[in-house]
Amino acid sequence: MHVADYKKFDLLNGIGMRCSLFVSGCPHHCKGCFNAPAWNYNYGSVYTKELEDQIIQDLNAPDIRMSGLSLLGGEPFANVEGLLPLLDRVKRECKDKDVWCWTGYTFDEIMACETKRSMIGYIDVLIDGKFVLEERDLTLRFRGSRNQRILDVQKSLAVGEAMVWEG
Ligand code: SF4
Repeated sequence: MHVADYKKFDLLNGIGMRCSLFVSGCPHHCKGCFNAPAWNYNYGSVYTKELEDQIIQDLNAPDIRMSGLSLLGGEPFANVEGLLPLLDRVKRECKDKDVWCWTGYTFDEIMACETKRSMIGYIDVLIDGKFVLEERDLTLRFRGSRNQRILDVQKSLAVGEAMVWEG
């Protein structure tokens, strides 16, 4: 797995102070994408055990209240194999931290794929769907176009259908 960027302190992508990891590689190629260079799976730098350790350490920073981890892209669900070990560690080693994830897939598309489904249980808030330029709306919080949804993943998994996050 390659990563396009890592932001240690990020207030923009999710609620609270967050560690944000931008993975490389995206199959969706949305018109007007904010991060087209990251479509390339080899863009940026190789994800390493050192970066993984750094993220865990940053999430547990003693002097600042970190809210959680945000996964962006590229397409996180095209990097399941690379992300699962990190997510497993976040769950085990970072208490009370939530995980937000931005994906071009819909919740239903994720649930229909065994590989993608293996990652969904680690996520708390999912912003789903491709960016659609014709539906772009700059007033939306945390998303770029009106077709995208902010979903409460754990609630969605419990009831078996996509449920909107209510904050
Ligand atoms: S899913 Fe996101 S990263 Fe991928 S092309 Fe669409 S806007 Fe860009």
